[in-house]
Amino acid sequence: MQIDILTLFPEMFEGVLGASIVGKAAQKGIVSFRVINFREFSDNKHGQVDDMPYGGGGGMVLKPEPIFRAVESLTGSLEEGAEHSVGGKPRVILLCPQGKRYNQAMAEELAEEKHLIFICGHYEGYDERIREHLVTDEISIGDYVLTGGELPAMVIIDSVVRLQEGALGNAQSAVADSYSMGLLEHPHYTRPAEFRGWRVPDVLLSGHHENIERWRLKESLRRTLMRRPDLLETIEMTPKIKKLLEEIKREL
Ligand code: SAM
Repeated sequence: MQIDILTLFPEMFEGVLGASIVGKAAQKGIVSFRVINFREFSDNKHGQVDDMPYGGGGGMVLKPEPIFRAVESLTGSLEEGAEHSVGGKPRVILLCPQGKRYNQAMAEELAEEKHLIFICGHYEGYDERIREHLVTDEISIGDYVLTGGELPAMVIIDSVVRLQEGALGNAQSAVADSYSMGLLEHPHYTRPAEFRGWRVPDVLLSGHHENIERWRLKESLRRTLMRRPDLLETIEMTPKIKKLLEEIKREL
């Protein structure tokens, strides 16, 4: 997978792209990163990339030319309305608080692509023509406003890279993660079996795989019911799940 990041602050990515699972995925050749300062695509000798908004008001607006040129240097000119399909043309992602709210299903969809381009904004915002004629997706990581799109890009990249085959030591861990199954994940314990008088649930020490699986599913359902009951509306209610939910409700 090729991931390109257009930013005015390339130094912000040094640690994140080089460390841990994301860094190892790059070392293994699972993913390749290019971090590009789009100031280099300014046509102005001062490297200007922003300007005052037409109509007045506070804040500076990112100009269209440097961002269009930077994206086109990576893709060749993208025809407007061209198909941006899996494995086809790159997805050009604009980070912005007005975009579609990011979630695990979107991470899984982006993880299928071959080429992602992230545009990180700063200041008041972007010239609207970037939204209208250059990008394929607008994504927000939540209902709050950050100073720039760099942290949101890192969040999305991390969540997408860990889904690439070979990125995680144990591929099962991505399958069982919260949201991947439509539920929050069950609790985890490790050694010691007793810490300050708090014991690990006996079933986890029993070695009985079927009982352990049942306990994990039940605790996953319990956690989802207590913290995110809305998620239960989206999963398939198998007889097993119904029975466990009834048990949990009786135990409340
Ligand atoms: N004036 C803009 C608005 O009200 O929508 C906010 C601009 S914000 C100060 C600057 C940049 O940070 C945005 O262009 C975007 O790239 C990024 N950003 C801020 N919050 C974000 C969020 N929740 N998700 C994704 N990107 C965000």
